[in-house]
Amino acid sequence: MESGAEKLRGLRITSLDEDDDETEVPQHPPPAAAAAAAADFDDNDDEEDDEEEAEVTLGFLKKPKRPGLLLRHLFPSKAGGIPAWLDPVNLPSGKSSCCGFCGEPLQFVLQIYAPIEGNAAAFHRTLFVFMCPSMACLLRDQHEQWNYNHGNPSRSVKVFRCQLPRTNAFYSTEPPKHDGSDKPLCPGAPVCHWCGTWKGDKICSSCKKARYCSEKHQALHWRTGHKNDCLQIISSTDASISVLPAIGKVPASTSWPEFEIEIDSEVTFDSDSCSENNSKSLVVQRHGKPDAMMQSWMDQFEADADNKCWASFQERVSRAPEQVLRYCREPNAKPLWALSAGCPSNADIPSCSYCKGPLCYEFQIMPQLLYYFGVGNQPDSLDWATIVVYTCQASCDQSVSYKEECAWVQLYPTTTMRR
Ligand SMILES: [Zn+2]
Ligand SMILES: [Zn+2]
Ligand SMILES: [Zn+2]
Ligand SMILES: [Zn+2]
Repeated sequence: MESGAEKLRGLRITSLDEDDDETEVPQHPPPAAAAAAAADFDDNDDEEDDEEEAEVTLGFLKKPKRPGLLLRHLFPSKAGGIPAWLDPVNLPSGKSSCCGFCGEPLQFVLQIYAPIEGNAAAFHRTLFVFMCPSMACLLRDQHEQWNYNHGNPSRSVKVFRCQLPRTNAFYSTEPPKHDGSDKPLCPGAPVCHWCGTWKGDKICSSCKKARYCSEKHQALHWRTGHKNDCLQIISSTDASISVLPAIGKVPASTSWPEFEIEIDSEVTFDSDSCSENNSKSLVVQRHGKPDAMMQSWMDQFEADADNKCWASFQERVSRAPEQVLRYCREPNAKPLWALSAGCPSNADIPSCSYCKGPLCYEFQIMPQLLYYFGVGNQPDSLDWATIVVYTCQASCDQSVSYKEECAWVQLYPTTTMRR
C-alpha cells in the first residue's frame, strides 16, 4: 500500500518524471527563455526540429474501480460525469457557465489535477474543461476564437483554472489517505438537481426544494419526473426529499459517461522501449476500436493536401492510440496539431485576462475522447481534431476563484465545410 504522500504525488501530473528539474516551470522565466518559447511556437510548421523534445504525459480513460473515487477531496483527474469542483463554493456562474452562442449551460468534459511545484498558491490546482454539446455552436466557436485581439469572443468551449494553497478552507493540509475516511472540510454550494454541475440558484416555486442552474434544466427535470416528485415532496416531510437525486448523482442522459483519467509518460510507449512488464502498453494493444477510428480518419484525409502534418500527427498518436489527453507544461512544450491550417500564431493567443502576462500551452484533448463519450458519427455530431489549452504561465492568483483560460479548437477540414 502506498503512503498517502506518495498517492498525492502520483496524482500530480507535473511530478511524474523522475527528473524533477525538467518539470519545474520557473514562475517568472527570464526574457530569453520566454523568447525561446515564443520562437518554438512560431516554428510549429517545421517538423524536422532537432531540438530536444519536451516529455509528454498522456491521459487514458478507465472506468472508476468503485464509486466515490472521483470526489473533490481526493483531487481526481476525470472525464465525463459531473465536475469535482476544487473550490466547491465560488463556482463559475452567470454567462461564464453558459455557451456563448446558444446560451445553454455548458456540459462538463474533463478536469485535470495539475498543481505547480514551487508555487504555494497552486499547491492544489485543477483545470476544468466544459463544452456545449452542439456541433453548430462549436463551428461558430471555431471562427470566434480568432477574435481574441478584438475583444472578448463568445465561446462554446471554456476552460477554468482553480487553485488553492495547502492551507485552505475546503481541505485538510494532509494528503488524502484513500481508506474511506477522507472528508472535505465543508459542504459545497448547492448545485442544480438536473445537471449536478452548476450552482442551483433557482428554486422550484412549488416544493421549494429542487434547485436548478437554469430555466432549461428546471423544465427538463419537470418533464422527466419532477412533476410527480414535486407533489410528493410538498405532501410529506423532509425525509421524502430523497426523490431528488443525491448530490453527485445526475440522470445519465444529462452528462457524458464518467471515467477516471490515468496518466503515463509518452516515452513508455516508444516501440523499442516497450517491455513486457509494461502493463499499460499491453492494455492499449488489447483494445481495437481507436485503431479502427484512426483508419477512418486516414481515409477521410487521403485527398488532403495537409497530409504531411496529418501523417506526423497520426504517427505520434499511434504510439498510444487510446490517448485522450496530452499534457506538457514545460517551456519548450508544443501542441501536436493535426493540421497546419487553423493553427494560431503567437499573436492569436491572448494574454492572461487577469494578470496580462503570457499564456503558455499546457495540454490538449484528443478526438478519441468522443469515442469514449459515445458521440455518434452523424453529420451534426460533435467532432474535433484537437482542442489545445493555453493557461497563464505564472498561474496567477488574483481575481475570481475560477479563472477562464484559452482553448483553441482545431476541426477537420471536412467538418468546417459543413457550416
Ligand atoms: Zn451552444
Ligand atoms: Zn443545471
Ligand atoms: Zn418542485
Ligand atoms: Zn495570469
